[in-house]
Amino acid sequence: MKKRILTGDRPTGHLHLGHYVGSLKSRVELQNDYDEFIIVADVQALTTHFNNPELINDSIYQVTMDNLAVGLDPEKVVIFQQSMVPSIHVLTMYYSMLVTVNQLQHNPTIKTEAKNYGYTEMTYGFLGYPVSQAADITFCNADLVPVGEDQIPHIEFARKIVRKFNDHYGTSIKEPEYKLSQVSRLCGLDGNAKMGKSMGNAIYLSDGPDVLWEKVRNAVTDTNRIKVAIPGNPDVCTVYQYHKAFNPEGVPEICAGCTGATMGCVACKKKLAEKMNAILEPIREKRHYYEEHKNVVRDILMAGTEKANKIGNENLREIEEKMHLHV
Ligand code: SF4
Repeated sequence: MKKRILTGDRPTGHLHLGHYVGSLKSRVELQNDYDEFIIVADVQALTTHFNNPELINDSIYQVTMDNLAVGLDPEKVVIFQQSMVPSIHVLTMYYSMLVTVNQLQHNPTIKTEAKNYGYTEMTYGFLGYPVSQAADITFCNADLVPVGEDQIPHIEFARKIVRKFNDHYGTSIKEPEYKLSQVSRLCGLDGNAKMGKSMGNAIYLSDGPDVLWEKVRNAVTDTNRIKVAIPGNPDVCTVYQYHKAFNPEGVPEICAGCTGATMGCVACKKKLAEKMNAILEPIREKRHYYEEHKNVVRDILMAGTEKANKIGNENLREIEEKMHLHV
């Protein structure tokens, strides 16, 4: 039996290269060895974007297309839409009985995110999203969740809920483990540690070569290097970080050219754009196919949702039996 992985995306826009490097690439590598479930977490997106349902609707397609375009095979992985899997929402409600408001209010991730979104008050849905996330992971009894270091507390929280729930009701829901990503996070083109749509510092999988070049051309470099003759410091340069991610074999040459003042920043950026385009071209081609065949994307999503529902409903039935809810 293959171990089951639960991973996914919030549909609040197109996926960018930070998603590709940090998550999508490894999803593709893992699809042969694991039973992979990819959640398009539209309910979670509503916790922060409840007033923009049109964006979420479009992004459900965009995110699904991005996943398919990078090489995820719908015959191997289950891509599904969160809102259409009722067992997740029922389980969220059951779990919520065992979580106190105080626990959620003191959750460090909730506090940080509320601050980032500028919330002075939190909605019930936003405050409770770690509970819903525990249900996302466990409705299908996932063994593993791939995470970055900053997301470990979410998994610990989910484990705590599951443990308490199993103790209370004698259920045998799996306590999920995390699978720590070994890849370092890709910074924004402006040098900001975080890449995001609202920050305008990201390259999207859907960006064409011209848009990509415009963005790379404007990327922040070593600001002291105002002319080629001045040796640069690659360690403070955003472009160099991108070379590490997309042109690893060329890194020694870039480093030598920069520190030895033999290569200018424009030439360095051109090399990077070339390497990135070579990686992105097959992705763009696939994505273009899906953009032209939205019905295929929908069918894939609905087939995955049906599979998720089958598994979720079976698990929920067992859980409810243990909870003595069936009369
Ligand atoms: S040559 Fe390349 S690595 Fe060096 S500062 Fe310019 S863009 Fe950055």
